[in-house]
Amino acid sequence: EETRKRKPDWLRVKLPVGPEYAKVRKLVDNYKLHTICESGNCPNMGECWGAGTATFMILGNVCTRSCTFCAVATGRPTEYDVEEPKRVAEAIKLMGVKHAVITSVNRDELKDRGAEIWYQTVVETKKVSPETTIETLIPDTKGNWDALYRMIEGKQEVVSHNMETVGRLYRMVRPQAKYERSLEQIKRIREAGMRTKTGIMLGLGETKEEVFKAMDDLAANGLMILTLGQYLQPTKMHLEVAEFIHPDTFEMYKEEGLKRGLKYVESGPLVRSSYHAERHVNVPLD
Ligand code: SF4
Ligand code: SF4
Repeated sequence: EETRKRKPDWLRVKLPVGPEYAKVRKLVDNYKLHTICESGNCPNMGECWGAGTATFMILGNVCTRSCTFCAVATGRPTEYDVEEPKRVAEAIKLMGVKHAVITSVNRDELKDRGAEIWYQTVVETKKVSPETTIETLIPDTKGNWDALYRMIEGKQEVVSHNMETVGRLYRMVRPQAKYERSLEQIKRIREAGMRTKTGIMLGLGETKEEVFKAMDDLAANGLMILTLGQYLQPTKMHLEVAEFIHPDTFEMYKEEGLKRGLKYVESGPLVRSSYHAERHVNVPLD
């Protein structure tokens, strides 16, 4: 019983320390920014922040949704700050970030789902750091396609929308989302000529066949870049890990994904959607 689901060795990570880490820490605090690294208790903070990169979370740190894997607080968001795009852009510039990853909470209560702040953040970042490439990990616009198109109008290099899990587990994992709608969102992003990316967490009880099915559905809907990582329970209150997937299995999924027509697959226990994200900009657009 005590060894049940004990974290295997390959999930042990280094503690965050060092001067780069301290610099990122200071900027995030001074500019009153939120990061998914912290909100999500990401195990890679030592590596990423130590390398001067972080994933900014815009539109506040309270989410209208209640995904059962996620450590971001659920509630009625109050933060809406039209100056936020400028502060994010400034922090990215000061950090010297070459590839910026930006995400947000879901703002279902806003008519535009937060699309205007999204658009401005991309535009401001490009204005002050023209060399910086941008990946936006955007929320489910709940079928509001005008909001979706506004979110991508700034012509960021990569547009990610996370599926998170296989179709069967949506009700348990992402109760306010729909598998088919997320596929459609990805399809529309691709049809708009953008580089598409998604992330799926493994170890939630999905079968191999279900993962293959998700890969096929994604390939059929224009998905280019897939990240696969081990789900880790952020706190005891969150969904339990059903299984620790072996690194060899992650390797197998990578090969399967490529065989099934995806252009790039990043697959490993510690892979997060923003992990090695700078590499994904190079995936050819056609
Ligand atoms: Fe932050 Fe992403 Fe790195 Fe995790 S993998 S520390 S969320 S940038
Ligand atoms: Fe977390 Fe995103 Fe789900 Fe909100 S929508 S609970 S931020 S995963």
